[in-house]
Amino acid sequence: MGSPSEARSCGCGLRWTTQLFRLVQGSRSMETCCFVCKKIRSLTVEHIIPQAIGGTLKGRLYCKECNDTFGNTLDDEVLTQFGWIGTLLNIKRERGKAQPYEVKEIRSGTALLFDGKDLKRKNPVVKIASKDGNKLDFADVIARSERELHEICTSIRKRYGVPGGIQTSQDVHPGPTEAERVITIDSAVLRGAVSKIAYGFACIKLPQSIIFSPAFEAIRQYIGTTDQPSLASPNFVHTGFMTDHIRPLHKIHVTLNRDQRLLVGFVSLFGIFRFTVLLAENFESELEWPGLDYTFDPVRREPVVGNDIFRAPHLTKEAILHPKQSEKFVLAELRKGYEVIDSYAEKVSFLDGQFI
Ligand SMILES: [Zn+2]
Repeated sequence: MGSPSEARSCGCGLRWTTQLFRLVQGSRSMETCCFVCKKIRSLTVEHIIPQAIGGTLKGRLYCKECNDTFGNTLDDEVLTQFGWIGTLLNIKRERGKAQPYEVKEIRSGTALLFDGKDLKRKNPVVKIASKDGNKLDFADVIARSERELHEICTSIRKRYGVPGGIQTSQDVHPGPTEAERVITIDSAVLRGAVSKIAYGFACIKLPQSIIFSPAFEAIRQYIGTTDQPSLASPNFVHTGFMTDHIRPLHKIHVTLNRDQRLLVGFVSLFGIFRFTVLLAENFESELEWPGLDYTFDPVRREPVVGNDIFRAPHLTKEAILHPKQSEKFVLAELRKGYEVIDSYAEKVSFLDGQFI
């Protein structure tokens, strides 16, 4: 007795089991450190750009606990604020379907749902007049489909015992509908969400020894919680290089400002919404800095080959977090982005926007 092979040959099942158990433990200890909470856990697959807006770039970065928290906060916010463009452009998602989004008809204030092709009322309209509450005097129903109309009429008949039929007419809209939607281009949650996109990209591109260095502690805490000083900003001044004004591209760019020892993340979604992120301060690296760039066409679902020698502008911390940009300038940049969407989406053209 003594060596494992002798133990096996004499059929010692328990030792096999123990051996197997050790193997499993061994593989568990291969689990890596979550890139946000830094606990040793098995990591889930993460979309660097949320899949709800067409992102396909992935990495194993965060533990389930962190990922679940992001799903309910940061990723949800991206979907809420920008997912409607995915619907409009009919962008394929890996999971789930494009969701209709709500707009408000300007003339009447009616809530409408747009599924990328057609507008429908969000809710049916049912007006009932009954003096005594038992006998129906008058019913006016605007339904969104024949089936819904039938269902509503049936329930009115049942409730009031209407013996005959109910007269209905079709609601024909006279022409183009002007509708509006409030778009948020800046909020604390949105800043966290774009920071996570830039950080996630850095995590899959840079060596772990760099990512887990103290220089990244602030961005980790910022993404992991909400009560930290902001490390990102909507920035339309320094990010013009992120769009070609032809295609609604997603882009992530990470660049090093060696003089100021700052690592800067640039994020653009649909070529419209653009942000800068302070990924690291006091950043020292011996790396020959590559300038990390990723450009993705969510409509064609393919990466776009960029310019290898391109370098993003070197920004100061002030320019990253507090870019000097007027409302007029931002509106003009947004308008350019919407013109691109205009050229892609049938039956839709963007009206003017304003800050509220
Ligand atoms: Zn974690």
